[in-house]
Amino acid sequence: KSFTKEEIKQIVLDENVEFIRVTFTDVLGAVKNVEVPISQLDKVLDNNMMFDGSSIEGFVRINESDMYLYPDLSTFMIFPWETDSHGGKVARLIADIYTSDRQPFAGDPRYALRRLLEKAKDEGFTSFNIGTEPEFFLFKLDDNGKITQKLNDKGGYFDLAPLDLGENVRRDIVLTLEDMGFEVEAAHHEVAEGQHEVDFKYANALEAADNIQTFKLVVKTIARKHGYYATFMPKPVAGINGSGMHINMSLFTKDGNAFLDTDDEMGLSQTAYNFLGGVLKHATAFTALTNPTVNSYKRLTPGFEAPVYVAWSASNRSPMVRVPASRGNSTRLELRSVDPTANPYSSLAAILAAGLDGIDNDLEPRASVDKNIYLMDEVEREKAGITDLPDTLLAAVREMSNDKVIRAAVGEHIIDKFAEAKKIEYAAYRQFVTQWETDTYLENY
Ligand code: ADP
Ligand code: GLU
Ligand code: MG
Ligand code: MG
Repeated sequence: KSFTKEEIKQIVLDENVEFIRVTFTDVLGAVKNVEVPISQLDKVLDNNMMFDGSSIEGFVRINESDMYLYPDLSTFMIFPWETDSHGGKVARLIADIYTSDRQPFAGDPRYALRRLLEKAKDEGFTSFNIGTEPEFFLFKLDDNGKITQKLNDKGGYFDLAPLDLGENVRRDIVLTLEDMGFEVEAAHHEVAEGQHEVDFKYANALEAADNIQTFKLVVKTIARKHGYYATFMPKPVAGINGSGMHINMSLFTKDGNAFLDTDDEMGLSQTAYNFLGGVLKHATAFTALTNPTVNSYKRLTPGFEAPVYVAWSASNRSPMVRVPASRGNSTRLELRSVDPTANPYSSLAAILAAGLDGIDNDLEPRASVDKNIYLMDEVEREKAGITDLPDTLLAAVREMSNDKVIRAAVGEHIIDKFAEAKKIEYAAYRQFVTQWETDTYLENY
């Protein structure tokens, strides 16, 4: 949907909107927002809202701190759950960041993705379709609204109530998303206790990234109303499945799905194979972006349906890329390594850059792996050309910083700021002595 300024002004009047939140995502993936009363609407719509970029993680230094917010009018949306004390509504606009001399800001992750989508367009791809499958856990809140260690239920994959106590929360999430214009395809209990998933229809990458950020806000807001805390932390509980955010992706041209070729034995086009070749080639480098926390690497371990190795398969769920069975317009690749802490903008920019590198340079994927990789030993894996995903945040950051394609695509500014912040995060973690270490070493040494 797209709106003109005049249309937005009319909706604001008709719906009694009293506040506008202007939001954007920083280099680390956090959503930031500034809220203005409706009297300031013209200023917002005319791209004259300013903010102090030096106070935002990974943006700019003090001496060049004035930045502008340019709202993307197509992202206008009224929050269905919020009213102010006058009964007025709250709406939001997602903004692009511009510098004080009104140039797109190199540190804006949304701009990085827009740039890559332009490149894809120049190569004839009208849309990079992204369908995400975000998973999350619900923890109970105590009487004071504090998060407890208790999960909301003991259900498992596709379970029904009474094992699944998340049903009402999930329905409320789905209804709210629908009010906001999402097309929800499915909502279900996930494999782990207290774990849930809501899937919504794919969209072009920019809209899909916006949707992910909105989705997380909706899930957290609605869960709290039901007495739960929703977390997108990748591995909140050791020993059970973690939360991924699988990315289903395809490129469309004006003629339709460019990944489909009915003459191929797998039904995949040369474009799809080359895209896959690029994704496999740059996977270790974009992992820092798609799995950006210390905790992300505790999910990428064998035995929990999350990938550990760089490989692909048509059927199996252990490799990093799976080719789901649907064909026709649904022909797609599913990247299973991504987790929901990823900054969706810079991650999708990096993944698209990897795929386009494959297409531009005719990269062929290695043979597919159709056994359970978790059960193969190191020698077997080596024979099959299967390499490892990075096993720590630090290893991932090093791989990212060394990959020219990923650096150029996401941009030096974002890559360097991100790497710097993540090295500090890793160093802080390394100084911490865990329960596992004292349990394992204290009495033995
Ligand atoms: P699975 O259970 O097979 O892992 P789901 O059915 O949970 O997958 O999710 C499929 C996701 O893929 C949905 O978000 C859907 O909209 C999306 N999708 C379908 N077709 C395409 C396509 N051509 N390109 C990108 N995403 C797609
Ligand atoms: N929770 C699993 C993960 O960490 C994925 C389960 C699934 O296949 O949906 O990726
Ligand atoms: Mg799932
Ligand atoms: Mg999936």
